[in-house]
Amino acid sequence: MKIDFPQQPFTSIEPFKEWYFEQAAKNVQGSVKGNITLKLPRWSEDEKKYVFEWCRKEIPFPKKVLLMYAPNAQTLYSYYNESKNKYVIALTTSFLLLTAMPSVAKAGIVHEFGHILNGDCIRYILPKYRKMSNEVYDVAINANIQRTDIDNLYKALFDSKGGCPHVPNIAYPKWGLPINETGWSFEVAMDAAYKYDKEQPDKETFTETPIVGDIIRVGDDFGRVTKIDGSEVTTERMDKQEAIDFLKRMKKVFDGDADAIAEAIETEYINVIEKLGGQCSL
Ligand SMILES: [Zn+2]
Repeated sequence: MKIDFPQQPFTSIEPFKEWYFEQAAKNVQGSVKGNITLKLPRWSEDEKKYVFEWCRKEIPFPKKVLLMYAPNAQTLYSYYNESKNKYVIALTTSFLLLTAMPSVAKAGIVHEFGHILNGDCIRYILPKYRKMSNEVYDVAINANIQRTDIDNLYKALFDSKGGCPHVPNIAYPKWGLPINETGWSFEVAMDAAYKYDKEQPDKETFTETPIVGDIIRVGDDFGRVTKIDGSEVTTERMDKQEAIDFLKRMKKVFDGDADAIAEAIETEYINVIEKLGGQCSL
């Protein structure tokens, strides 16, 4: 990637974002807006080495936590790798740019540590709770991270104008809970968030807008969304065997098989985490 790192790391978000999108523009054809991570060229081996070393130098890392590069992921995420008996934090391509503003990059990693420490990566979630569970996790984690850092992380990763909405003073009142600045327990917040979500009008009538990487049904076949241009959705057909294999893998994913989830995110089904209710994604 062509990047001109600043002489001094950034300490405020506005100049950082300006620099971030300038660097992105040098590496991406067309406009750079929103979440640019999937548009950026993949890390070279040297860039990967730089990022991993940066993380381990800047942040005290428990031995049980590994880093992974996930070029197909839209956001940082973490999961438990059963075969290695280690937790893994997966980094997006955009994370390389985030290292130019250490407080933001650190907030991302610390947020993932939060998922690991709170047991989010190994918790069984009843299917009915899956839609809201990640938001519930995130609020509890973000309650314990410097608010400016979490807002800045959100602004950088998602090119958002406002800060992160997954914080106690925004999310808890919305769910009908008193504000608890240290975070409500999972059970209390989950119950309130679930009830809140169920009461939202018309929620059954909304059709989900597909995003690139989604698998959608095309008549009797399946297709993978490869491009979205306004309301036009381009898909790549999958044959029957491919669809069967896909469904088998998805079953494992939905059963909470950590390796299958990781593989799905890493390979083709970049949106699979959102379908799981966002389990462990940022
Ligand atoms: Zn999260």
